[in-house]
Amino acid sequence: METLLLNAKDKGATDAAAKILKNGGLVAIPTETVYGLAANAFDAKACENIFIAKGRPGDNPLIVHISDMEMLNEVVSEIPEGAKILAEKYWPGPLTMIMKKSEKVPDVTSANLPTVAVRFPSHPVAREIIEKAGFPLAAPSANLSGSPSPTSFEHCVHDLMGRVEGIIDGGASSVGVESTIISLAGEKPVLLRPGYVTLEQLQEVLGEVMVSHAVLEKLEEGEKVLSPGMKYKHYAPKAQVTLIKASSDDYVKYVNEHAKDGVYALCFDEEAEKLSVSTVTYGSEFSDEQQAEHIFDALRIIDESGAEKVFAHSPKVTGVGLAVYNRLIRAAGFDVIEL
Ligand code: AMP
Ligand code: MG
Repeated sequence: METLLLNAKDKGATDAAAKILKNGGLVAIPTETVYGLAANAFDAKACENIFIAKGRPGDNPLIVHISDMEMLNEVVSEIPEGAKILAEKYWPGPLTMIMKKSEKVPDVTSANLPTVAVRFPSHPVAREIIEKAGFPLAAPSANLSGSPSPTSFEHCVHDLMGRVEGIIDGGASSVGVESTIISLAGEKPVLLRPGYVTLEQLQEVLGEVMVSHAVLEKLEEGEKVLSPGMKYKHYAPKAQVTLIKASSDDYVKYVNEHAKDGVYALCFDEEAEKLSVSTVTYGSEFSDEQQAEHIFDALRIIDESGAEKVFAHSPKVTGVGLAVYNRLIRAAGFDVIEL
């Protein structure tokens, strides 16, 4: 298929994107978290095509993106009190909330679950496209299933050229990791995926928030989870990745002791010059926000480098660091060394 490449800065670009979506097509769009592969959330056929274009397992539900609170009423059957408060504080922004779905949401969109994931993005291009389309957009990350989430137009072109009707360039994603996901559909709020809106911030608003054990740990074979996406080995680079939990000095010492051809370090900016192997950095040790912004690009660079073995320095597991850790431990297939 021919893929129309658009630039959000060009006149008429968001109109062209909205037109494709109205015709039931797919467009990769920029959001503040990562790029999303969008389709009309109410069009079962269009949503089915998202799964095909990405090679995504059919039991992994899509996030539905809205551009105003009226659209929320169309998508969910009830809005829990906690969701109202969180929406007030964190929408538009990188927070996805799970609620009971309305009848308008097709089963394919929610992967047959009685609930739906909803987000109100803050990215002006994403919002403009939803507004012009006039319906909510189902949009998972715009990567091929299994590869790192795309944080730039170039990442989307690399993965989806010839597989979707359009890709629109809106610059690099500023957050860099996918949205925080919290379920408000059960009795107690549960954090299903950590992101830029932190667990600490959610606790401040809601009081007790449970953390799904899939956030930090590997699932058992066949284990049932609240968030189906968490059971897949995401973001798997071609190289074998080991996550090292250690102080900066101990990490540098360990990697230098294990230096040989094909070994790479995925490290913090401050460590690169102390290491005797090839390095790819993913931000300052002292900024979890920078780490989130750069982690997926760093994983793609590692993939293209031909690295065979990667020692990744683990981020802290507090604040936004928990989101970075959650992605990296999956990239490492849960192979962790604690020094
Ligand atoms: P992606 O859009 O690629 O970031 O993936 C969407 C994530 O949202 C996946 O991990 C899904 O498991 C999760 N998700 C979407 N809808 C639901 C839902 N109704 N209940 C639980 N998790 C969901
Ligand atoms: Mg994804």
